[in-house]
Amino acid sequence: MVDFRRLEDVNVSGKRVLVRVDFNVPCDDTGKITDDTRLRAALPTLAYLRDKGAKIILLSHYGRPDGVYDAGASLEKLVPSLSDLIGIQVHFASDCIGPKAQSAVDALQAGDVLLLENTRFHMGEAKTADGQKGYDPAFAKAMADLAEIFVHDAFSVCHRAQASTSGIGDILTAYAGLALERELDHISQALDIPKKPVMGLVGGAKVSSKIDLLKNLVGRLDCLAIGGGMANTFLAALGHNVGNSLCEHDLRETALEILENAKLENCEILLPVDVIAATGFAAHAPHRVCGLDDVKSDEMILDAGPDTVTNILDAMDRCRTLIWNGPLGAFELPPFDTATVEAAKYAAKRVKNNGLIAVAGGGDTVAALKHAGAADGFTFISTAGGAFLEWMEGKALPGIEMLKKEL
Ligand code: AMP
Repeated sequence: MVDFRRLEDVNVSGKRVLVRVDFNVPCDDTGKITDDTRLRAALPTLAYLRDKGAKIILLSHYGRPDGVYDAGASLEKLVPSLSDLIGIQVHFASDCIGPKAQSAVDALQAGDVLLLENTRFHMGEAKTADGQKGYDPAFAKAMADLAEIFVHDAFSVCHRAQASTSGIGDILTAYAGLALERELDHISQALDIPKKPVMGLVGGAKVSSKIDLLKNLVGRLDCLAIGGGMANTFLAALGHNVGNSLCEHDLRETALEILENAKLENCEILLPVDVIAATGFAAHAPHRVCGLDDVKSDEMILDAGPDTVTNILDAMDRCRTLIWNGPLGAFELPPFDTATVEAAKYAAKRVKNNGLIAVAGGGDTVAALKHAGAADGFTFISTAGGAFLEWMEGKALPGIEMLKKEL
């Protein structure tokens, strides 16, 4: 289990507490929130801090304004929804540093919640003072000076070293909020100290975006099922004709190296043994089940075949932990969602009936599992994309490292 500082380790009573959240919620053209999941994710931490009598100061990025004010990226529009969800009037300051932020902080009473304006309106959030990638420590200090304690509750930005994350974490002692704590405990349980045997299911479009992930996983898993477009690259590397399929032929050596490493590490690799080949990349395009060496040059593989699905389900039967990233086929285009839907439903069933620990995250995975109606059946689904993938790649995440660092 990763060792990090938690909220229970600090006395927040009467203290000014900066909480880094991810309120980058999707909104429609009129600014109306279309999915408030990210606001809700912060509620347990906010309830805990209010209960303990902390003065709460919320920090978040929103969109990509890249250091300039943009009314469309203001966080002020979130105040009514956030107030409704928390059940008190949330205060707002139109800057996250300087006199406006300071006077709003000075007015806080125990249990109050203040939302500061978008951190990305300042260049120093993601650039050094001379415009390089990184952050400006002076900007981080201006935010840190507003508070006594720093709580990080946004796993989705843990892979980034920016002013409102690592920058403040270099100045104030940082503690994980309850949402981050939950993410870390679940992911760590699946990857660092899993109940064995442990299986990975990695799909999605391309090998190129997941090379590090595949390399790391073969050293940790007992079994790895590879699906989606990226399986085509492996099949082609092994000499199969993949026709007009999405395939990275230039990654032949990389694919073979991953297979070789898997053998050395005793990680069983499950590649498709049959596929669904279609005549076009479109919903309901004419298609057929075919064997690996039967794909015609004008056909493209858009999903795993039924025998492949059976192999994957059998492997799930043998495993006690499952880590899932990426769909098994072009799931947005029915019926090429079949393998993804069947495997996701089966995993959820195994969780319910057999105590399988199934953890998923990254990119399109959440959408694919929701589409399958299986998301609620998983043990845990990470809300983070890039951070989840980097964790699976075995990288140290700056936002997590700062929770371990003593100042
Ligand atoms: P990723 O973001 O890497 O997880 O990739 C997800 C995307 O991969 C989805 O949009 C799928 O439609 C796509 N995908 C999965 N399998 C295939 C395939 N066989 N051919 C083309 N695209 C695919």
